[in-house]
Amino acid sequence: MGSRRLSGPRAKIGTMSKHPSQDPVRPAEQHTRDQRTSASVCAIVPPYLLERLALLDTGRLAPAAHAARGTLAHDAGFRATAFPWTEPSTTGQTALPSAGGTLVRTIGDAASAEVLPGKIVRREGDAPTGDPATDEAYDGLGATYRLFAEVYGRNSIDGSGLGLDATVHYGHEYDNAFWDGAQMVFGDGDGEVFGRFTRSVSVIGHELTHGVTQFTAGLAYQGQSGALNESVSDVFGVLVEQYQAGQSTAAASWLIGQGLFTAEVQGEALRSMKAPGTAYDDDVLGKDPQPAHMDDYVQTDADNGGVHINSGIPNKAFYLVAAGLGGNAWERAGAIWYRALTDGELPATADFATFAGRTVAAATDLFDTTAAEVVSGAWTQVGVTPGGAPDVRTAAAWVDPDVNS
Ligand SMILES: [Zn+2]
Repeated sequence: MGSRRLSGPRAKIGTMSKHPSQDPVRPAEQHTRDQRTSASVCAIVPPYLLERLALLDTGRLAPAAHAARGTLAHDAGFRATAFPWTEPSTTGQTALPSAGGTLVRTIGDAASAEVLPGKIVRREGDAPTGDPATDEAYDGLGATYRLFAEVYGRNSIDGSGLGLDATVHYGHEYDNAFWDGAQMVFGDGDGEVFGRFTRSVSVIGHELTHGVTQFTAGLAYQGQSGALNESVSDVFGVLVEQYQAGQSTAAASWLIGQGLFTAEVQGEALRSMKAPGTAYDDDVLGKDPQPAHMDDYVQTDADNGGVHINSGIPNKAFYLVAAGLGGNAWERAGAIWYRALTDGELPATADFATFAGRTVAAATDLFDTTAAEVVSGAWTQVGVTPGGAPDVRTAAAWVDPDVNS
């Protein structure tokens, strides 16, 4: 981006362990299918990134640090609260199911308070308001609806025409965006590091896809199944953006959250699916910690077992499938992933190998053995054996995010 770097203290990310043998990730045994009935709130900016920002107590970025601390305090409530998955929005006036597969969007304005849905400022069919956050949210909800409806035949997030609601201008300098189990919520950012969160269509698609996952496979938000939950949101987040722009696999950026960082930050986006670990490398934010191969799987208790970190591995696999199949990623690669997510065969506690096996089966069902070989080969390239036994990497390398950053 050619912008200057932020200056500030360097910090270790979160509470990652360098001793994986003492800190195993246990994705499966602690979760049951009953978790389909409750959802974690999934925010786009992971806690380890906000924790870095929060350390900047002095100097020019003190306001951003203050905003990050406020965001962390707010988001800590997510981890203590499970939202009901199938309960409609309690606002009564915003979650009207749409009839006959019709797109029905409702945008509320929280006016910098932490209230939902806020004052309703744009309903379906209304003209643009002129407020960028309101209009970007409206357009992003529409783009997401259209990908799922037009390409995969899905009637909204729940498959039954759920109205799509969003609240913008949520909180004061709130540094995040999230799906709360019933609607989307967007902060304006602190203005120093993060701009407004409606700017990225991939972020809107990512968050709404958490809703699709919630209503389908219900992937448990911990360890490998949690990283798959994150990865599936990244997959359909970029596909929303690519489908809207008519971009082929070769032409697309494969970035999540492009445009969220201000020009102050040395980085393009939050994550890169094409090259996990390269999205940002900044004095303040550190280096993008995502691995792209099982050899670099990060063992950690933080971030629900590194769900925003290890998602780099299945993300890279999806990119390799899209590149191997060519053309537009939503057509074949996306259809394979959508089938694997929604056909009812994927356990909520699936690990990478189980999910990989389901994608190979989906490629065979939808296309042919050639496509299945591309899918199988992509997983092998990232160190995952499709359909194999659960991969317990007790000797996995821990990647220090500060190295070479
Ligand atoms: Zn997410």
